[in-house]
Amino acid sequence: MVSTDNENRRRTRAIALADRYPASRQILEFYAALIGFDSDWPTLRARLLEIAPEPMQRAAALQQQPQGIFLRILSRLNPTKITPQQNNECPNCGNLPQCAVLREEGQGHSLFLVCSACTHEWNFPRSECPACLMTDEKRLGFYTAEQFPHVQTLLCETCRSYLHIIHCGVDPQAIPDVDELACTPLDIWAMEQGYTKLVPNLAGL
Ligand SMILES: [Zn+2]
Ligand SMILES: [Zn+2]
Repeated sequence: MVSTDNENRRRTRAIALADRYPASRQILEFYAALIGFDSDWPTLRARLLEIAPEPMQRAAALQQQPQGIFLRILSRLNPTKITPQQNNECPNCGNLPQCAVLREEGQGHSLFLVCSACTHEWNFPRSECPACLMTDEKRLGFYTAEQFPHVQTLLCETCRSYLHIIHCGVDPQAIPDVDELACTPLDIWAMEQGYTKLVPNLAGL
């Protein structure tokens, strides 16, 4: 298997984050082992039996047809294309965003959503909820934690959804959908408050 520069960069970032955030170490190391892997379920299952965390190995061994998290892994390895209907769906493949990224542009910052299937990024208004598309800014909240200086968790009081925003200006090494996997403590906080992530990540969070 030959790795591209992009795959190498993702693997390096995942391993660096695994060192920095012990609560997410297992999923980041698992993600790093899956990078560049493109396959069908029988082949993926054989690979999971080698590299997945123990409980996932047991689940994979039992499934003749992929379900739950395994379907999510396969859909990321082989994204299906659907026609986008609204502005929170990826213009490239039609899937919903995994997270958002704030990038410096000119004098200010622009917000982009990051596709959960193909990692394509597209511009999105900062005053709109990426889940229910309501546009009342007063109903959007932000949660931050000291150990994640480059992450803000966007909370919608209308639909009780949440999504992490990665600030590339604060950490230029960040790769939005990889850094999103490191946010386990923020996920636990948000779920304890009764919020639901728009799309669960590889860890099912
Ligand atoms: Zn996409
Ligand atoms: Zn909402």
